[in-house]
Amino acid sequence: MSQDASLRRPPMPFAYYDRLPADSKRTYRRSDGIRRVEIADAAALLPLARAIEPLLERGDRQAVESACRVLVDAINARLGTPPVRMRVFERRPADAGGELQGLYEPDEVTGGTARITVWMRTAQRVQVVKFRTFLRTLVHEVCHHLDYELYKLEETFHTEGFYARESAMMRELLGEPQKGPQINADQRG
Ligand SMILES: [Zn+2]
Repeated sequence: MSQDASLRRPPMPFAYYDRLPADSKRTYRRSDGIRRVEIADAAALLPLARAIEPLLERGDRQAVESACRVLVDAINARLGTPPVRMRVFERRPADAGGELQGLYEPDEVTGGTARITVWMRTAQRVQVVKFRTFLRTLVHEVCHHLDYELYKLEETFHTEGFYARESAMMRELLGEPQKGPQINADQRG
């Protein structure tokens, strides 16, 4: 079966788009238009991502942090983007709004090198987070970094394009096949 370009789902802005000022709308649309981060020789990153899994299962915070740093450094090296300070903490902070899984602080905020923080244990039961969930959080924060440093976006939004980039990078790091174009249920006819 051939894949018809006309069946591709056009980017659909999330509800908050309407409330954004014009400049931010432009940034949002640029973000939404980028569906995948092109990483040269991404296959070489697979073992770096996989190396995190047993360390996480063991609950070895320091080793997880080092492994995350190696992976994030390798991604930045391939993309020519500036480095990130990588921190892994034990227990997720929680408040009424829920648990914080990860945090990206750009250089403007840190006053130096940008910083990614991810937490490896749930707030409630203090269990180690599942590898996939943990990696997705890490990739999510890396995508924020790339919005600023690779795509030179003024702001980093959670657009559909952003989540597509996150998912594509996840599959790449796990050696899973990329999905074909997404088709809306109401466009299947
Ligand atoms: Zn985010």
